[in-house]
Amino acid sequence: MSEFSGAIIIGGGPAGLATALRLQQTTNISCRIYELRAEPTTLGGAVGIPSNGLRLMHRLGVHDALCAKGNSESEMIVRAAQGSILGRRDMVGGATDGYLRIKRIDLLDVLMEAAEEAKIPIYYNKRIVQIEEGKDKVTATFSDGTTDAADILLGCDGIHSSVRKLYVDPLQEPEYSGVASIFTIIPASSLSASAIAQMKGINATITQEGMFLAMPCMATHEEIMWGFSQEVPLPTSGDIRDGWEVHAKEEVKGFKEKMHRLLQDARGEWGAAMREIIDTTPTVKFYPIYRLPLGGSWYKGRCLLVGDAAHAMQPHAGQGVSMATEDAFMLARLLQDEGKALGDVFQRFDEIRRPRITEMYKVAARNGDLRQRTGPWGLVAKQLAIKLYLWGSGTFGQSASRMGDLAYDVEEEDLEEL
Ligand SMILES: Cc1cc2nc3c(=O)[nH]c(=O)nc-3n(C[C@H](O)[C@H](O)[C@H](O)COP(=O)(O)OP(=O)(O)OC[C@H]3O[C@@H](n4cnc5c(N)ncnc54)[C@H](O)[C@@H]3O)c2cc1C
Repeated sequence: MSEFSGAIIIGGGPAGLATALRLQQTTNISCRIYELRAEPTTLGGAVGIPSNGLRLMHRLGVHDALCAKGNSESEMIVRAAQGSILGRRDMVGGATDGYLRIKRIDLLDVLMEAAEEAKIPIYYNKRIVQIEEGKDKVTATFSDGTTDAADILLGCDGIHSSVRKLYVDPLQEPEYSGVASIFTIIPASSLSASAIAQMKGINATITQEGMFLAMPCMATHEEIMWGFSQEVPLPTSGDIRDGWEVHAKEEVKGFKEKMHRLLQDARGEWGAAMREIIDTTPTVKFYPIYRLPLGGSWYKGRCLLVGDAAHAMQPHAGQGVSMATEDAFMLARLLQDEGKALGDVFQRFDEIRRPRITEMYKVAARNGDLRQRTGPWGLVAKQLAIKLYLWGSGTFGQSASRMGDLAYDVEEEDLEEL
């Protein structure tokens, strides 16, 4: 049994909920979660959960509930701008625990229901404004004047983490990845039967200006998420936030015209389906993709950053949720060692998790680069390279490193120091 009895968790996203659930399941540490928003957010699109994350969801006891909501079709079809198929890839990648695409709000619903069953309290409307450490406790103060003290404080509060800014590593700032997206979720009922028939698994189309993706995100196929991600320069004049707002307005206003222009050469049933998707979409959201530079501090005193608060990466490896869940499991394992001081637990956490996170971060950045703008000949070269790559992995199997990434089990990591 751990000598620690309580943890304050800041942030009620996937990292905060998974960490609270795992600590409650496997240690005697009781958790309470403090969430900034007034209620669970409906923002966000769909997130991927590959095998390495899904097997942990199994152990959290939420796998079946997740699969009942999300879509587990795992084949990705990659097409050229003209609609011809360049190749296929199975997102299960030779691992054994499947693949799931689920709306972020559905994922949160399932995790929150599990937290409620486990009697983990979640307090909403809580903005942390101060963190103070005493001899054997850390105290969090919130903007409404309330405080809480515990043995441990976990910053699970996402890329713009207050725990990081207030205490753990104030100098670490998110940076723009160079890629921005428009995306939306539309009801499948707005599409014709022939367009719906095209909507299986993940469909990627490579264009000169970026990548178009369309996929069902519910088990029932009721909703389709589509998005277009591309290289967009950082606004240069004036305030960056204002610059993004102006850019977002332009993208949202002109999305139909732009998408039709980019997809004008797409032929066949797929081309018709994409045009129909765009025509039936009332509006889209625009978001520039930010990440945290590698190398920041993850812990200080009794505080540890978990999930995106520590290591937000681009979404292009589909590993954000799974990395947060792996963090949760690793932390819970390390805290089971009753003889270990908290500083040693956090240090070991950092030593074990950092190489794995760095690897995934680089995969996400490389996948993001596929969205870079090219000329007509660049597009031909890019399509050829993708075709050869997908043919190679289809014929000779996925690369050992990719299979390893998905087969990876965080619970098999050796906890002993080398
Ligand atoms: C609104 C939203 C939409 C997203 N949409 C997508 C998507 O479409 N696709 C994708 O791949 N990834 C998306 N992500 C990112 C994805 O959810 C994360 O990469 C992944 O789930 C890791 O989870 P996390 O809990 O570490 O961070 P997050 O999911 O960012 O969760 C952090 C939580 O902390 C809360 N919080 C923030 N600041 C504070 C504070 N000061 N005090 C208390 N609570 C705080 C937030 O409200 C949120 O609930 C989204 C994240 C958010 C917040």
